[in-house]
Amino acid sequence: METAKVNLLGLDRKGLQSFFTTLGEKPYRADQVLKWIHFNGVTDFNAMTNLSKTLRLQLIEIAEITTPHILFEKQASDGTYKFLLQLKDGNCIETVFIPEKTRGTLCISSQVGCILNCDFCSTGKQGFNRNLSTAEIISQLWIAVRKLSLLDGQHDHAVTNVVMMGMGEPLLNLDNVLPALNLMLDDCAYGLSKYRVTVSTAGVIPAMQQLREHTDVALAVSLHAPNDELRNEIVPLNKKYPLKELMSVCRDYFKNEPRRSVTMEYVMLAGVNDTPMHAKQLLKILKDVPAKLNLIPFNPFPHTTYKRSSDTAIQQFKEILQDKFHTTVRKTRGEDIDAACGQLVGEVKDKTRRKERYLREINTDAQ
Ligand code: SAH
Repeated sequence: METAKVNLLGLDRKGLQSFFTTLGEKPYRADQVLKWIHFNGVTDFNAMTNLSKTLRLQLIEIAEITTPHILFEKQASDGTYKFLLQLKDGNCIETVFIPEKTRGTLCISSQVGCILNCDFCSTGKQGFNRNLSTAEIISQLWIAVRKLSLLDGQHDHAVTNVVMMGMGEPLLNLDNVLPALNLMLDDCAYGLSKYRVTVSTAGVIPAMQQLREHTDVALAVSLHAPNDELRNEIVPLNKKYPLKELMSVCRDYFKNEPRRSVTMEYVMLAGVNDTPMHAKQLLKILKDVPAKLNLIPFNPFPHTTYKRSSDTAIQQFKEILQDKFHTTVRKTRGEDIDAACGQLVGEVKDKTRRKERYLREINTDAQ
């Protein structure tokens, strides 16, 4: 039986170095191939002219560079650009590009669906199928960089920032997410600044500690509630990792880099978590946490009973917090093409059975 080819897109510098060492090649081949794949966008080994002919032939035999298929792409009236990507097994994921005056942010998915089941998020309502591989995660950036550079128009379509805020919980797929983050930061690949690559988590505490040990990227935490009672209800993972422990990890997260802080995401749900009392509770739990706050007006989706807070409620909430913490309100983008936060659904095959199996595997009782 023919053995499966290795997809070189999924290997970071270290992975490629050991791949080439096993072929009896020097480790610097990793740099050359990284540049071909990620910097130049080359997927044909024959075009890699600084590799010997023999090595090129060998690579054609044992390796491949393949990306998911773009099933659909669409631009919203505000310039937000959404890609629907089909994976080899038929599952689909979504990636969104958000252009702004001074930056271009790509929002990347880490799983097909999500198991966390946060009450206000439509991805959670879609069920869960599986983790994305490193190749599938980094492919989203590879594809966006290539496709966006072909768009004409006045504004710049360069990807300057990446946020792991698409479908899924990146910290439940850390083994595949970490090499992808390494590629984002690697100068031979995308060379993004560690301040401009952000992992967002609902608060998987042990994985947050591992993330800190292995990479330097920015951290965002989906907080959404200022007390356990409410957070248990809207972010069920809180039952496993409650606020006190979560805040303690956040307090220490950047203790060796005192100028950095954790971004706290807080979705604004009318009448649920948006009153002045909630804002005051937030000030208390965030005491001594180096944090900035990002208030996210709720984006509705079919069958949800939640409503977006009024502009006045959001403004009042912000005013209570902003003396102590830098507080911004996220501008809602891409709504007309369902590309806004919490609206990414892709297509998740075989959801329930897979979800049960995965929950057993990661042994969480957070549901
Ligand atoms: N699982 C990770 C990554 C997803 S990030 C996490 O929870 O952080 C997506 C961000 O959008 C999170 O902060 C999430 O809570 C927020 N979000 C989800 N649904 C939303 C909705 N309907 N409206 C606004 N924000 C939403």
